[in-house]
Amino acid sequence: MGTPANPQKYVVHNAPSQIDGTGAFAGEAIPARRKIGEIRGETISVHEAWERVKHVERIMMIEISPRRAVDASRSSDPLRFTNHSCTPNAVLRIRQGRIEIYAMRDISPGEEITCNYGETHHEGGMRCQCGAPNCVGKL
Ligand SMILES: [Zn+2]
Repeated sequence: MGTPANPQKYVVHNAPSQIDGTGAFAGEAIPARRKIGEIRGETISVHEAWERVKHVERIMMIEISPRRAVDASRSSDPLRFTNHSCTPNAVLRIRQGRIEIYAMRDISPGEEITCNYGETHHEGGMRCQCGAPNCVGKL
């Protein structure tokens, strides 16, 4: 077994986002339902995840099961900067502990890639700035 293949299927760039901080942007056209790539990181317990979240400003923690979470803070995968939108163009799927992102519709080059992380992501404590007409207003 060598190094696992790069899970990134399409070119994704990181650039300043109008939604929040840095975003993930399509570097080429991505057809609907295709896998864009994955977010890899350090797998830790959910308990450890909550401890770490207390000490960082920018959360890059994704729960993959009731017991395990992935800390992508030190990952180099560009999709770790995927922002939340209430009208997302991509969807996050947890499969056997892997965090995969799929296009929900055709995504044009230069478009920001967004997922709906759900209301539980930040426990309703953060204002959502996605700007979508159906924005729930909080995360
Ligand atoms: Zn929103």
